[in-house]
Amino acid sequence: MKIGIIGGTGLYKLAGSEENENMSVDTPFGAHSKPITKSKYNKHELYFLPRHGEGHHFLPSTINYRANIWALKSLGVNTVISVSSVGSLKEDIHPMDVVIIDQFFDRTKHRIDTFFQDGLVGHIPFAYPICKNLAEQLYKAGNNITDNIHKKGTYVNMEGPQFSTLAESKFYRKMDMDVIGMTNMTEARLAREAQMHYATLAMVTDYDCWKEGEIVTVERVLSNLTHNTELSEKILQEFFSIIEMKDDCGCRNVLDGSIQSTGKGLDKKLKEKYEILFR
Ligand SMILES: [Zn+2]
Repeated sequence: MKIGIIGGTGLYKLAGSEENENMSVDTPFGAHSKPITKSKYNKHELYFLPRHGEGHHFLPSTINYRANIWALKSLGVNTVISVSSVGSLKEDIHPMDVVIIDQFFDRTKHRIDTFFQDGLVGHIPFAYPICKNLAEQLYKAGNNITDNIHKKGTYVNMEGPQFSTLAESKFYRKMDMDVIGMTNMTEARLAREAQMHYATLAMVTDYDCWKEGEIVTVERVLSNLTHNTELSEKILQEFFSIIEMKDDCGCRNVLDGSIQSTGKGLDKKLKEKYEILFR
């Protein structure tokens, strides 16, 4: 299988992977976050993409999400695992726990989150934004590695880059949200439009700011990051040893009946651009 791994800072390849090679792809949406590291692990072809770029230069609002998804798709990747840092909104989701996300709530406001444009209109189903089969396999792998894992959870995608205010954090808790982050829902939307399997391995770094005496700081978050990076690597290694993907999730043919435009009037260049995405 060819699998894309979109990770945060610190996760660029797996220990034990072979033939590591940095690469970049030209995309019609501009430059993707660099580099993509191609490698082999347990017969699988992996493509690691650090969403914030090497050296962490892109804010959540300025990541070129479309170029990232397009680049992976153009390399033949149809399965994407996102590894992401999140804050916890629940007492029983502790720092350094793992949550397999099953739902999102969108609070973004400054980013492009669709491939549909230039006269091409489509409306894809998104009630269940995560690939259930991929999530199930990720949970199975995670559960073999750690007891501190939650089978499902709702991820609030805030805009950032600032962390939440206390009022916001308390509001999300009242709404029964589980964790909060700045990037994954945008990726999930685009991956769904590009007919890819997508799931999130959310690694908890802190309690956001709602918990008294637990004010979130960059220092605090960074100190838990090393632990979470090592843990996510172990879970991925386990995942690539046990993975058995079924193909009954519907992710790969989500556009059947979802595109309203006829394609008439689209120029050749645009058709090429969409052909790779919707392949
Ligand atoms: Zn799927």
